[in-house]
Amino acid sequence: MRQFHAHVVASEGVRVYLDRTAFYPTSGGQPFDLGSLGGVAVREVIDEEDRIAHVMDAPLAATDVEGLIDWERRYDHMQQHTGQHLLSAVLEELFKIRTVSFHLGTEVSTIDVDALSLSPEQLERAEERCAAIVAEARPVQITFEDASAKLELRKASERTGTLRIVTIEGLDRSACGGTHVKTAAEIGMVLTGKTEKIRATTRIEFVCGSRALRRARADHRLAASIGRALSVPPEQSLELIAGLIEKNKALEKTAQRLAIELARREGKELYTETAPGPDGIRRTVQRGAIDDAMRARAQAFVAREKAVFLAVCDQPPSLLLAASADSGVHAGDRIKAAVTACAGRGGGNQQLAQGSVPDAAALASAEALLR
Ligand SMILES: [Zn+2]
Repeated sequence: MRQFHAHVVASEGVRVYLDRTAFYPTSGGQPFDLGSLGGVAVREVIDEEDRIAHVMDAPLAATDVEGLIDWERRYDHMQQHTGQHLLSAVLEELFKIRTVSFHLGTEVSTIDVDALSLSPEQLERAEERCAAIVAEARPVQITFEDASAKLELRKASERTGTLRIVTIEGLDRSACGGTHVKTAAEIGMVLTGKTEKIRATTRIEFVCGSRALRRARADHRLAASIGRALSVPPEQSLELIAGLIEKNKALEKTAQRLAIELARREGKELYTETAPGPDGIRRTVQRGAIDDAMRARAQAFVAREKAVFLAVCDQPPSLLLAASADSGVHAGDRIKAAVTACAGRGGGNQQLAQGSVPDAAALASAEALLR
């Protein structure tokens, strides 16, 4: 029922109660319907046990209203929900795996099943079995039966009295108050997605019908565009990407090695270019990131006699001090004294030390102490 006529029996602000409704309220893992009542949009539908609340966009003035269900949304929910009956029944039929719970999401739906894991092959077999039943267009029937009868349900119901039984012919009988399509054909394709272990259960993502088409199309287009970007057929892109990742790792290693090599040469050159002070010590102050290259530059500089190398980095505020063994400077002691005086931390050995300070002002003070 997509359209219906009803009387307003009670109104509490934007909460409206009708004598009859075709709006499905959130329950059993399925979200509520959208649509309108008397031309006013319905925002949410809530099952309050003894009655159904329609939460409106604005209060309703009319007492007699025409209800209109957002059919695209509802039909999508019917496809996903009936598809869940099918998938759950098939998993039980093929592998004796029971479904514990169901959630219908805006993008994908999930079922939690009573199994520690499922192999991709099992999921493929389940999809194919679903496809066969969909192809047979088996009827999906709704009946009302008494709970005390021998019902042979997939999952026993704890309810008493009259139960609403949903049957997929020759496959599944479940007590359910949800919304369903009329035949398995309307479910369309059942496509599973990723699985995730949750405690002792496995969560399986799946989509049915129009969602499965949109999902398959999006995946196909993505694969095609990746192939185009790599200039290979889509089926070769994975192998190519794996190769590129390996190559990139090797290039990064080479680049790193060359950067260190270059830094060493720079350090040596810098030593040659730096004139000794009156005390015979060559001093240099370099600015930039304190990384492996800076350390290599510093070590190359102080590898020669009577040399002291100071590096200053603005972000993060930090310093490096290197000193040759004959310089009379203990890098570790000097750095520690300077950064501690500026609320920082640091240390090292006689030849090489590093420290950090909280901010730019502290960095300037520490640098002044070290110069
Ligand atoms: Zn159902």
